[in-house]
Parts: sequence; structure tokens; C-alpha cells
Amino acid sequence: AISALALTGCGRSDSGSGSSSSGAAGFDKSSLIGVALPQKTSENWVQAEGLFNDGLKNAGFKGEVQFANGGVTEQQNQISSMITNGAKVIIVGAVDGGQLGTQVKQAKDAGATIIAYDRDLTKTSDVDYYVAYNNFKVGELQGQALLAGMKAKKPNGPYNIEVFAGSNDDANSKPFFDGAMSVLKPKIDDGTVKIVSGQSTQNAAATAGWLAENARKRMDTLLAGSYSTATLDGVLSPNDTLARAIIGSVKAAGKPIPVITGQDSEVDSVKSIMAGEQYSTINKDTSNLVTAAIQMVKDLQEGKTPTTNEKDNNGSKEVPTQYLEPVIVTKANAAEAYKNNPTLEALTK
Ligand code: BGC
Repeated sequence: AISALALTGCGRSDSGSGSSSSGAAGFDKSSLIGVALPQKTSENWVQAEGLFNDGLKNAGFKGEVQFANGGVTEQQNQISSMITNGAKVIIVGAVDGGQLGTQVKQAKDAGATIIAYDRDLTKTSDVDYYVAYNNFKVGELQGQALLAGMKAKKPNGPYNIEVFAGSNDDANSKPFFDGAMSVLKPKIDDGTVKIVSGQSTQNAAATAGWLAENARKRMDTLLAGSYSTATLDGVLSPNDTLARAIIGSVKAAGKPIPVITGQDSEVDSVKSIMAGEQYSTINKDTSNLVTAAIQMVKDLQEGKTPTTNEKDNNGSKEVPTQYLEPVIVTKANAAEAYKNNPTLEALTK
């Protein structure tokens, strides 16, 4: 869950503490910094591995990055080993943010600092900092893009849409979905937009494990059940991997591609946007997020309080949070949006 403060403040507010000496002790620079990442369900996680390895090394730390490809238990075990190996900071991109309470408590008891990365930890107050792109804002931008894209094609509506959510175990799925629905709901209420299947809750729209095959199957079923005669104008997709799976389903059914949102600026989706298929994505440059996390590690090592600009209410605690700003990308602004990313910029030429 996101705090009211975070809902209103999409810019960098000064609600958090500045970087200042807290009198904390800091720690020896040769100490282990553990990075526990989830499964590789989207490109950003794959990129994070290399960026953390290089970034921590260049900053003079001993980093260890692990993926929990096997899921929750594997991640719990990885964090436990990091504690045993004396990690002073553990950066966690959780598989299931609600299932690490025991491990992060042990980490705190052993004197480590916990930084939640990209996904906040829930059902625990043993999380010290959170660094992420503003997830609710991501959802709002997706909802706005969906409406704008449909309006450009068909100025007067009404619009038939379907909505997809991320995996229920990922704490980000709720702010993504709630952010988008905060924009779509008024349009649904006034009759401009209709979810033809009636599947409008996060649960009904969820995509277990963020797996493309699950989104594809659900879209197949929706098309067969609700769109034999009706036209599908738009789809809210929470990320690029799922957007491409949904486009695949629509193409296989021989239907026109609806306006469809995404997130992550994955290479294949940027190509799809430039080809006029996927409508939008979100730029959440992973290198900036990893840099922000490593900056927190540097501050902690020096005994300073890391800089934060928000609080994220994780249900148990107002977690001091450093939010970065997500950017909406469509074909119209892609070249500008990726001007600092040669790989993506090249795709816009
Ligand atoms: C991340 C998204 C990503 C998704 C699936 C979320 O927690 O914020 O960027 O698309 O996980 O990997």
C-alpha cells in the first residue's frame, strides 16, 4: 500500500530526511553487501544483476547478487546465508514481499540494514529503506496513456477494454493496478469505458507469477467469451512482457490490435511501439535505480542517513523511501525519452 503522501506527491518532496550524519557507526568497507533478486520475469531484473555487480565493485564493496529462480523458499535461504556470511546491507527485490519477515528480522538482529529494491517488503517493520520508481504513478500513467491512445483512434468512444494486473505476490501489483484504475474508474462510471467481461478487480485481472503464458491464456478466453461481436478498443497491461503476450493472443484470434499499455521499456516492446503495435511503455531506467540503491549503501557505510523523498506505508511501517519518477513512452516521444540510452535510442531511428 502507498501512503496518502505518496498519492499526492508525484514529485520529489522533502518529506524524508536529508543526507546527514545520523551518528550511526557505519561499517567496514570490505563487508559483504547482499543483493537478493526475484525471478527474471522481465528484462529489468536481468539488467540489475550486472549493474549491481559492477556498481558495488566500482564503489569498493564486496557484492553478492543472487536470483531466487525457484521462488520464496530459495530466496529465504539466500537471505539467511547472506546473514551468516556477515552481510552489512541486504538489498531485497522480493519474490513475495510478505514472506520474508523472519529473515529480515534475523538480519536486523545481526546488525544488517535492509533496503527494499523496486518492490517493498510487507507484513514486517524490519525494512529500513525502500528505493523504487513510484509505482502508483506508473499505474496512473498507464491509465492516462490507455485513454489517450483510444481517443486518438476513435475520438468519441465509447470504449471496450479489458484490464490485466501483475502477480498477486508482488507488492507492486496493487499500486500499479490502483493507480491505473484511479484514472479509468471515473470513465467507467460515466459510461465512456466498459470492461466487457466484467472482470474489473485486481484478483480477477491478476497474472500469476507475471508469466506471459498466463496473460496469453486469459486473453484467449476473454476474446472467445466477450468479443465474438464486440470490438476490443484497449487493454491495460501492467508490463511489456504481458503486453506482447496479449498482442500475440489478439493476432492469433485474427482481431485488430487494441491500444495496449506496458512498462519496462523492453527491447521487443520498444520495437513493437515503433512498428505501431504496442501503444505505450514506461521508462524506469534500471541503472538509475541501482545507482540510487548503491548510494544508500555508500551513505550507510559512512554512517550517514540515506536520502529519501517519500514514505511508503507497507502496512506495518512508514518506510523511508527514495522514489524515482517513471516516464510514459509512446512512439511520439520515444527518441527523446531514450536519448540517454543508446541501445533503445537506436531503435527509434
Ligand atoms: C517491477 C516491474 C516488472 C515486474 C515483473 C515489478 O515488481 O516493478 O518493472 O515488470 O515486477 O518482473
